[in-house]
Amino acid sequence: MTAIHKFYELVEEKGKGKEKAKAGWKLERKRKTCPRCGAGVFLAEHKDRYACGKCGYTEFIKAKKS
Ligand SMILES: [Zn+2]
Repeated sequence: MTAIHKFYELVEEKGKGKEKAKAGWKLERKRKTCPRCGAGVFLAEHKDRYACGKCGYTEFIKAKKS
């Protein structure tokens, strides 16, 4: 799937250099993968949580400190 490969590129960036690691992780928030199903299964994004439609895993988004 071409779409998934696009997301993998973002992860690979953190391996290029220690200084670029943080930038790579920032991009990762764009789409989270399911820790149960593994890479390739993305979590659906909701207002306050991420949910996996495959296994039902739910990850709540912490409120930002401001
Ligand atoms: Zn899952």
